[in-house]
Amino acid sequence: MKKFAKYIYNLITVFVFLIFPINTKASEFTFVDTSKQLYTYDEMVEDIINLAVGHEDRISYESRAVTSQGRNIWLIKFGNLQSENKILITASIHSREYMTSQLVMKMLEEYVLNYDVPNASGTTYRQYFANTCFYILPMINPDGVSISQFGAAGATQELTINWLNGCKAMGYDLTQIKANANGVDLNRNFPIGFGCDKKTASVPGLSNYPGAAPLSEAETQVMAILLNENTFSSAINYHSMGNLIYYGASTNTPDVANRCKNMATIVHAVNKYKMVYCGDAIGSFADYFGAVESAPSITIEIGTANPVPIKQFSNIYNKNINVWPIIANSTL
Ligand SMILES: [Zn+2]
Repeated sequence: MKKFAKYIYNLITVFVFLIFPINTKASEFTFVDTSKQLYTYDEMVEDIINLAVGHEDRISYESRAVTSQGRNIWLIKFGNLQSENKILITASIHSREYMTSQLVMKMLEEYVLNYDVPNASGTTYRQYFANTCFYILPMINPDGVSISQFGAAGATQELTINWLNGCKAMGYDLTQIKANANGVDLNRNFPIGFGCDKKTASVPGLSNYPGAAPLSEAETQVMAILLNENTFSSAINYHSMGNLIYYGASTNTPDVANRCKNMATIVHAVNKYKMVYCGDAIGSFADYFGAVESAPSITIEIGTANPVPIKQFSNIYNKNINVWPIIANSTL
């Protein structure tokens, strides 16, 4: 599609959504608990299983790997499960950013449970997602999330527990961990721009250590293998904090760079978060995705503190609930 025609098409799509917002329909019964601060790995697993019961036409799930502390890295497929138009959604690659898992799961719950309920314009989620299959990694770093939530008790291996107790004894705040249980910042463990972040640490720690080599971790290998096996048309990576939309990298081709900006502009029209250009590659997943898939991605940064306080949840949810339907129906 010509650039201008594409622009007009996307403008109309966003406009239609703004006139006919998809209101949360508040099902009588819900699974995902958004009333309390800690949304745990175990709760998420239970929610995934419960959401899928009776909804096998729109949702499936599988474990893609087991982490060093024995947790599964779950992949959920949602939407038209046969569609070749695949959009990747990732959350909680950084431990302390676990509200992103809660957000993705709550959004998913809304779509799954109200799949055939028409909105004010008479359109259903089934129709919005008729040509899209979402591949969702709702908690890429379950070990790190559990450590941020429960300290050393979030680890299961003696070596890891000792390391974490040592960090604590030295005055480090474990709630602020970004890394996985090996002390590797997973969002610096990808090959494009590996080790180039100005804040790069030389030893394992709670943040900023990129690992001994690119893709050294089970969690990042899951993501790389997923990109090898599939062709994705776009990706949304959820992080916190800042109420920002990051897009683009200097390693993107001009075409991908344009499409990243286009995608960020569409999402900005929905959630009003500030758009920020990323710049140089730093070994992040977004850097890698752009290079491998030649497709656009954005990073949505939710909230204003880490971990994001639960009282911010409903505002974040309301601003972001329409993002997936709009992206599924935009030409990127
Ligand atoms: Zn992050």
